[in-house]
Amino acid sequence: MSQFDFDLFVIGAGSGGVRAARTAAGLGKKVAVAEGRFLGGTCVNIGCVPKKLFSYGSHFHEEFAQAAGFGWTVGGSSFDWPTLRDNKTKEIERLNGIYHNLLVNSGVELIEGYASFESAHEVSVAGKTYSAEKILIATGSSPFIPDFPGSEHAVSSDAIFYLDEFPKRSLVLGGGYIAVEFAGIFHGLGAQSHLVYRGEQPLRGFDEEVRQFASEEISKKGVQFHMNANIDSIEKQSTGLKVTLTTGEILEVDLVLCATGRVPKTDGLNLDKAGVDLGKGGEILVNEEFQTSSASVFALGDVINRMQLTPVALAEAMVFVNNQFQPELPAKTMDYSNIPTAVFCHPNIATVGMTEEEARAAFDKVEIYSASFRPMKHTLSGSDERHLMKLVVDANSRKVVGAHMVGTDAGEVLQGIAVAIKAGATKEVFDSTVGIHPTGAEEFVTMRTLTRN
Ligand code: NDP
Repeated sequence: MSQFDFDLFVIGAGSGGVRAARTAAGLGKKVAVAEGRFLGGTCVNIGCVPKKLFSYGSHFHEEFAQAAGFGWTVGGSSFDWPTLRDNKTKEIERLNGIYHNLLVNSGVELIEGYASFESAHEVSVAGKTYSAEKILIATGSSPFIPDFPGSEHAVSSDAIFYLDEFPKRSLVLGGGYIAVEFAGIFHGLGAQSHLVYRGEQPLRGFDEEVRQFASEEISKKGVQFHMNANIDSIEKQSTGLKVTLTTGEILEVDLVLCATGRVPKTDGLNLDKAGVDLGKGGEILVNEEFQTSSASVFALGDVINRMQLTPVALAEAMVFVNNQFQPELPAKTMDYSNIPTAVFCHPNIATVGMTEEEARAAFDKVEIYSASFRPMKHTLSGSDERHLMKLVVDANSRKVVGAHMVGTDAGEVLQGIAVAIKAGATKEVFDSTVGIHPTGAEEFVTMRTLTRN
């Protein structure tokens, strides 16, 4: 009989927490999860899932316009925000139910409320104390809003999913994933859309050619770019929000979204009682085993601030469970290389592996194969949208070390390419792969002419 109430106590029922809890419970461990808000965490409730539903919704106006070239006469169309918002909410509630069943059916005890540490082996939730041999912190992150006069009039992505009214004029501050995605969503759903970013062009860290190409495509669609600018102040007026930029430009909008990063969520955890150390950015410091400075306490997902992505949290959870609860199996480490991601802006961006700039820094000789073209659909649709596909090759090993795409369903295309890159495929393997015709994706196996080296 264990001296503890549980083998594993998980704090937070988001992507990483739920995966760790139910996998450990499936191995026969006694597991509890404490959650004070909603099951499924940011991804399911106020992140990836509802954002993708909104993103689908925001493409229709283009489709209606493009249908004419294919012989369709589409009647008048209008957009009703409450319908999209509430249908989305119903779907999220359905997913919350699924998460509940996944946990309960795998034998996890669900404890409602926020947990805080009493010691390295004890947490209290709603006045009751529970002990556990191991405690996993999977509390995620929360949006950060910079401090400037009137910042209280701005909202974060948390609020965007439940707005009472859809804005006619929107402004998004930031140049990361959330900013470019929501600038496209607002525009696609019919709002005037301004994107304000402090740098030269959005998506810092992405391949430079991709950034340039995507910026052109996004602004071609009608998102108004205000680069090298920040918000100086926001004043609430009777006609809307008066936003003064650091460039002196003044914009009047109905909604300001600050998409300026997310910070690890550790407030209220009483980490000092467990001896858990934080890094400079407020992230929980962990070793390769996801073990904190306190031997019985572990952390993973956004709260450790390595890569704030759901599939990364899931993979970290699998490594954690393998190493802590399956001693019969070889120990694993999390491989953070070649993690593919997609940005659901319009058109989508997807990427895996190295950017051209990273490859040039890492290898003596690099070959770049890059193609931009008008997709076949747009030969009739009337749209001037263009797509970009790009392979980055280490010329010595011949390995394809990076693949990038800007175009429709880029994430769907790049997932398979990511498998090839993970497996170490060379450019010759790509070249010897037969294309699927006619698709845009076949470009990845037909780019024979070197663009530059
Ligand atoms: P990001 O870290 O991607 O981007 C934050 C942006 O805000 C950057 O452009 C940054 O500028 C800017 N910024 C930061 N501080 C300030 C400030 N004080 N004033 C003005 N601008 C500022 O964060 P997001 O909020 O977009 O997203 C959070 C995380 O969520 C991402 O890192 C991503 O991992 C994840 N995510 C993933 C998605 C996906 O996979 N499709 C979708 C949405 C989110 P600078 O570049 O100069 O630092």
